[in-house]
Amino acid sequence: MAAPDQPFRTLAGMRDLLHPETAHRRRLTARFAELAELAGYQEVQPPLVEDLGVFLRVGETTDVVTKEMYDFEDKDGTRVALRPELTAGVARAFVQHHPQTPWKVWYAGANFRHERPQKGRYRSFDQVGVEALGVDDPDLDAEVVTLASMSLAAFGLRRVRLLVNSIGDHDDRARYVEAVRSYLDDRRDDLSEPARATAERNPLRVLDTKRPQDLAVVADAPLLADHRSPASEEHFGRVLAGLDALGVSYELAPRLVRGLDYYRRTTFEFVAEALDAAQNAVGGGGRYDGLVEDLGGPPTDGIGFALGVDRILLALSAEGAPDEVAPSVQVFVVDLTDGAIARDLTHELRAAGIGADRRFGGGSLKSQMKAADRSGARWAVLVGSDEVAAGVVTVRDLRSDAPQSAVPRDGLVAEIRARGTTT
Ligand code: AMP
Repeated sequence: MAAPDQPFRTLAGMRDLLHPETAHRRRLTARFAELAELAGYQEVQPPLVEDLGVFLRVGETTDVVTKEMYDFEDKDGTRVALRPELTAGVARAFVQHHPQTPWKVWYAGANFRHERPQKGRYRSFDQVGVEALGVDDPDLDAEVVTLASMSLAAFGLRRVRLLVNSIGDHDDRARYVEAVRSYLDDRRDDLSEPARATAERNPLRVLDTKRPQDLAVVADAPLLADHRSPASEEHFGRVLAGLDALGVSYELAPRLVRGLDYYRRTTFEFVAEALDAAQNAVGGGGRYDGLVEDLGGPPTDGIGFALGVDRILLALSAEGAPDEVAPSVQVFVVDLTDGAIARDLTHELRAAGIGADRRFGGGSLKSQMKAADRSGARWAVLVGSDEVAAGVVTVRDLRSDAPQSAVPRDGLVAEIRARGTTT
């Protein structure tokens, strides 16, 4: 095949993640895993591709499902889709494996949405999150929201607001949708064209608007709080009492409905102040008491959240959070003979758990020392013909002017361990 006229590049909305961003992501995911496991959540990894039907259950009136899904016909004719989020896959897995309840799981992974790419909005993006299935207890809502809040704090994010609402149970929501629909019908002439179209498909979505023209209409829209049943009120009251008891600050957001159709009762969202308003949601979640049933399982309560890793990293950087990544190479072997010693010593050090590298193709002392500096290593280990003759290596501290010293070659690993590898 001939080479392309232009070198290939990543597709729109897709990015190559390079060092040090990859290191930040790995650290963030590891921290999240630690916190989730401390709270009794176990890891689940649903596949990236599912039967399209799994995601259609999530919301046939949402943009995520109707417009943004990467769906296609598989080679066997099945309609499939790349996952746009993880909750539906987790609920499908619950139905398939019927685990003991409560089933408390955490996940980390990529999702795909064919959105208009911009900063903080990509077509492939990563989330970490949890789902807890099989318990209706409002204290679980408090546990889940608290875990999300603690995670963002543990990642180092400082300026985050937590917005909380309850959209009531199934019947409350149905009554509320009708109230909003009829209100928006009355105010139709005041709405923007896109908002009118949304109002017909999914009136609640209009409440999420960011357009000033629609905001004026939304300001007077009916409030869900006025349509919640006493049972929903009680549930929500206990959730808020839980957050108060656990010291989690929140703001009540009576218009927070969130995009996906399956939410019931508690909904919440985290907003990073350091990001532009259009992409400042760094995570969100809620209760979805009907989803498992919609996927063919028994009536099962559920609650979860997903945090957007890409946006959290953007917010951290906008907040000026420290972003050094400790170098993984601790020793750089400078071999002024034929390279065999560099080959063997790097192997020996690595096998002993000490990060080690060398320059291939040898080169002058100067060029090898330059490579040593670039590697971030703390120690340079120099070997020339004098060292070979004496059975030693020369260890030089690259972070100080301390005099270098000769160390028996066989004792190098012990010497580096004794000196320590930190800066
Ligand atoms: P959602 O499933 O839409 O509630 O998304 C949960 C979180 O994932 C959001 O708060 C964002 O932080 C993140 N997110 C959603 N869509 C995107 C996207 N296209 N690009 C980057 N992050 C996203």
